[in-house]
Order: sequence, then C-alpha cells, then structure tokens
Amino acid sequence: MMTAIGAEALALLLAAVCPGCDSVGTLLCGECRRMLIADPLEIRTDGGLVVHAALRYEGVVARSIRRVKEDGATMLTRPLGDALAQVLARHAPLDALVVPVPTSRAAFRRRGYRVPELLIRRAGYPAERMLRPSRRTRDQRGLDREERARNVAGSLRAVGAPGEGRQVVIVDDVVTTGSTLDEAARALRTAGFRPVCAVALAATPGHGDTREMPVGG
Ligand SMILES: [Zn+2]
Repeated sequence: MMTAIGAEALALLLAAVCPGCDSVGTLLCGECRRMLIADPLEIRTDGGLVVHAALRYEGVVARSIRRVKEDGATMLTRPLGDALAQVLARHAPLDALVVPVPTSRAAFRRRGYRVPELLIRRAGYPAERMLRPSRRTRDQRGLDREERARNVAGSLRAVGAPGEGRQVVIVDDVVTTGSTLDEAARALRTAGFRPVCAVALAATPGHGDTREMPVGG
C-alpha cells in the first residue's frame, strides 16, 4: 500500500514542472522558492485602507499564484502561506479576526477551494468566513479603476453576530486597485466591526493605480 502511494507520488513529482522556471521534476525549485520569501510592500486603497502585501505580483510570484488559481496547484499554498504569515504576524493585532475576501460561487465551483481562505489556514490562522457576496459582479480583469469600484460597490455583506467594535484584518490573494478590499471594509464596518488594515499575498506593482509607499522598519 505504502509502496503504491510512494510510486504514485514519485510519478507525480517526475511529471511536475516548477511554476517559476519550468524546470522539470520539481514542484518548486530552490531558486524559485527563494523568490516566494516575503518582501513586503504597503499600499493604500482609495478608501484609505492600508494594505500590507507580502510579495509583488510579478515573475515567479505571479506564475505561482496563477498556478494555484488556475491549475489546482494547492501545494504551492504552503510556501505562499508562509509569506502571508510573515505579514500577518507583523500587522494583525493578536485579538483581531482574520477575514478572507469571499470567493464567488462560480470560482469555488471551478476550483473546489477558496484561495484567500486556504492561504490564511496555511499561514496558521483561523479564517473567519464572515463575508458573503450579496450580488453577482463582473470579472474585475480588464476594468479600469472607476469601473472596478462601481462593479463591487455594495456587493458584499457580513453575516453572523454584530461586530461590537471588534478588530478585523481583511485578507485577499492579489490586490490591484483595492476596490474589493474597500468594499469588504465597508461591509464589515456596517456590521459593527473595525477593519484595522488589509493583508494581501501579493500586490500588482506599477499598475498605475497602486501608490507604493516605503515600508517602515
Ligand atoms: Zn524554478
């Protein structure tokens, strides 16, 4: 039995290709693994929410995240979750709830998992699934800043007991303009929570609408 499983795992490994550099026979080569070590940057959304991102969405990072989102490579959420953990440890207050941005029903059906929630769990935090879509939205890709904000306005709601001022940290996988995070913060504030900041696995650099700021310390 163990041998059969071992052989299957070996076959899987031999068929594997590094998402970063296309090296064959590895799920993630050592060199690309190092590119997934947190190198945080900070941006601010139009709504004034500070977003701490662990990585820049480019190169090996972008390819690895796409592999998770499009090809079911959930194993990569381990190194990516480690990167997220670095930023959460630094910026999430100890008593804050860690709330993932919800995954659309269509995306969940397609993947069978929710990426932000999985990353939070891999980072070693409980994911508080308090946000739900309250209506359908268009795919944000290809929309400009204003269209994105309009597309998601009023699209989320918080479920469960009222927040009574409890601190929350909102988590998403990739942040572009931050309009989804602003909407998440709005929904949580409406329910009585206090969003202290957002944490993202990666932020798109030089997008033209992410104002990068130097990270202190
Ligand atoms: Zn590689």
